[in-house]
Amino acid sequence: MAKYIGPVCKLCRREGEKLFLKGDRCFTPKCAFEKRSFAPGQHGKSGGRSKSATGRESDYARQLRAKQRARRVYGIFERQFRRYYEVSLQRRGLTGLNLLQILESRLDNVIYRLGYATSRAQARLLVTHGHFTVNGRRTDVPSMLVEPGDVVQVREGSRSATYFKDMAGDAESRNYPAWLNRDLKNMSGTVQRLPERPEIDGNLNEQLIVEYYSR
Ligand code: SF4
Repeated sequence: MAKYIGPVCKLCRREGEKLFLKGDRCFTPKCAFEKRSFAPGQHGKSGGRSKSATGRESDYARQLRAKQRARRVYGIFERQFRRYYEVSLQRRGLTGLNLLQILESRLDNVIYRLGYATSRAQARLLVTHGHFTVNGRRTDVPSMLVEPGDVVQVREGSRSATYFKDMAGDAESRNYPAWLNRDLKNMSGTVQRLPERPEIDGNLNEQLIVEYYSR
């Protein structure tokens, strides 16, 4: 499983906003974006964005940025992201919403949304180390897509680990969306349904993403 190993905070600076990729650190003064909220690189302070002759950002640049932002929020490489787009085209309904629902259905995202990890990257690590089960079966695939009715749970053998002992208390203070149901006592969560558009945050513009891929 390939994963991005470059400097994470640079991604926020590139997108010009906090993407909250580092968990609790993102809410402290140590956040790199709080100190340097300009794009990385030599031309970062002057904007560092491609503009048209009129000085406005081109349609292509806006579409590209929307797609890159979503990729970075969910921590997905281009090839897999495009594959999700192709699957979303085949589903009934709005392609953009379908795409966001697929991204939200990833196991690492669901664990993050349930508050069992402080970031999607941490959730991914926990899954690859085999700490979670889906419907009672152990899995180490963070990109697994869960469906309504599926139960995600911390594996029994992992519950005594210090991280999970502390996590139960930490998770209590974290909100979780209405499309999921959390059972802290059993360290589990159930997918009730797919999320509606207002339930998906992260400053995402799915319309621009669809425009980018349908050029
Ligand atoms: Fe982004 Fe978090 Fe790094 Fe701040 S600490 S720049 S929000 S990843």
